[in-house]
Amino acid sequence: MKAVTYQGIKNVEVREVKDPSIKNPDDIIVKITSSAICGSDLHLIHAMIPNLPTDFVIGHEPMGIVEEVGPEVTKLKKGDRVIIPFNVSCGHCWYCTHDLTSQCDNGNPHGQGSGFFGYSETTGGYAGGQAEYMRVPFGNFTPFKIPGNCEVDDEKLVLLADAAPTAYWSVDHAGVKHDDTVIVLGCGPVGLLAQKFAWLKGAKRVIAVDYINYRLQHAKRTNKVEIVNFEEHENVGDYLLEITQGGADIVIDAVGMDGKMTPMEFLATGMKLHGGAMGAIVIASQAVRKGGTIQLTGVYGGRYNAFPLGDLFQRNIDLKTGQAPVIPYMSYLYDMINQRKIDISDIITHVLPLEQAKHGYEVFDTKMEDCIKVILKP
Ligand code: NAD
Ligand code: ZN
Repeated sequence: MKAVTYQGIKNVEVREVKDPSIKNPDDIIVKITSSAICGSDLHLIHAMIPNLPTDFVIGHEPMGIVEEVGPEVTKLKKGDRVIIPFNVSCGHCWYCTHDLTSQCDNGNPHGQGSGFFGYSETTGGYAGGQAEYMRVPFGNFTPFKIPGNCEVDDEKLVLLADAAPTAYWSVDHAGVKHDDTVIVLGCGPVGLLAQKFAWLKGAKRVIAVDYINYRLQHAKRTNKVEIVNFEEHENVGDYLLEITQGGADIVIDAVGMDGKMTPMEFLATGMKLHGGAMGAIVIASQAVRKGGTIQLTGVYGGRYNAFPLGDLFQRNIDLKTGQAPVIPYMSYLYDMINQRKIDISDIITHVLPLEQAKHGYEVFDTKMEDCIKVILKP
């Protein structure tokens, strides 16, 4: 079959690889119909994730049709339409039974944190879903089964694999409530959807920050948020404090690491630079009100362990973070989409055949062609 494979820094190639097969009795094989590229995939191609071998099949935001089921699969049968969340979760450990499926004890056989599809040996070594077919373990729990009568097309549903539940979890976990002022750092797919969901939770004011103008304009147009281009301000933290009269109740970081510099290198600049990941963390810590909450949804790996905590401590900031537990939110968000109460597909700018994955990665990474979200079609 054809699949998107990692071939070194900023290099993916569609290659011919071995078809997946059933390994465990509760595995399923899915024929992929749509598969999104995520900001987290950019961390992979920027070599920010360890243990990613050449030829590894990537992708963790797929959906498709069940092709084959193992003998112990009772929830699904051949022909069912499914969405595959990025977390690999067993359904019966303490974490899975307490809605923290992103920390499943059994999802990662290598035991280094939770398991994800298509995201290196460190996260379990599962081949990903930017491919024609994919093996999904825990077939009775991990896949989300789309009801047979559903007529909603893939483009409206595929973001349920990650971006939409992650964004919803970001506002939910951060505790966004009626009358809150919320700042969302980042107008990529996750940030844009978090802005929508902040309104849904009753926020009084939503402010979007980025430096890519077409993304800021998209935020303003589709989410009706105030926008701030951080490059237009000498100290955007001070500016945000001023326009919010003392800081936002909640700041959501939907940026994540970019490898530009480590926390210590950033401190050495006198915290002057505001671009990139360290910029986002510093903007967040400056723009949140005393006693407010910072939700770090952007992904941070081990090299960020030296993050300085002093400011957060002194100002009583609650810091929330982690991988989104996708599965507990899928059913609620599916109903919202199916009942036409929300539409999250406005962020999809590119729908490309799988063969054009290289181009999809390039425009998403370099922000060309006004790219926001790319869907690949095997
Ligand atoms: P993306 O790369 O498209 O979006 C990031 C945006 O942040 C870009 O528009 C960029 O211009 C902007 N940006 C860069 N520096 C900034 C700064 N200092 N202040 C404000 N904006 C800045 O990616 P995405 O798909 O939206 O994902 C965003 C982050 O969320 C990534 O780190 C991704 O790995 C992470 N993520 C986390 C989870 C989770 O479970 N926690 C799940 C999915 C994605
Ligand atoms: Zn993702």
